[in-house]
Amino acid sequence: MTVLPIVITGDPVLHTPADPVGEATDAIGTLVADMIETMHAAPGVGLAAPQVGVGLRLFVWSWQEDEDTLHEGVAIDPELWITPTAVGEADEESESEGCLSIPGERFPLRRSEGAILRARGLDGVPYEIEAHGWLARIFQHEFDHLNGVLYADRLEHAHAKGVAKAIKREGWGRPGESWLPGVDDLEG
Ligand code: ZN
Repeated sequence: MTVLPIVITGDPVLHTPADPVGEATDAIGTLVADMIETMHAAPGVGLAAPQVGVGLRLFVWSWQEDEDTLHEGVAIDPELWITPTAVGEADEESESEGCLSIPGERFPLRRSEGAILRARGLDGVPYEIEAHGWLARIFQHEFDHLNGVLYADRLEHAHAKGVAKAIKREGWGRPGESWLPGVDDLEG
């Protein structure tokens, strides 16, 4: 398995809707294994294929909710249903999220509390997961990646200005920028 470079905001692959995967070939199996390795190396709780420069509709996740509960999996050609978003401003403490394609930054964003993920695993078998809270947030974040949407695109005005500043400061926002987990220590 290989740790892959993670593409940084500004590259078209992150801002373009991804294509369906279809059949999970051996090449897809290798990609998924590399994405899992990359996600753990980053470290992050989720990673979508466009973030490693591959415009395909798949993502992986791994989130330790508590001592006894590890959520992890592979979603190929996923569909996502979400509950209506609660009205009000996102809380800095409990609703801030980050993205490995905007490394080191976090901003608050209101997400739906509940989500239903329907997808296939590497074995091609369809499955469904009903998620709440942080897992539902992870699914929404990763699913957005497959539609060319970053969480930065969803931020309220003040936070959108904050992320734009950070992108300018770091010299991101142009094609071809990436970072390599374990080599470039960008994720704080
Ligand atoms: Zn992300």
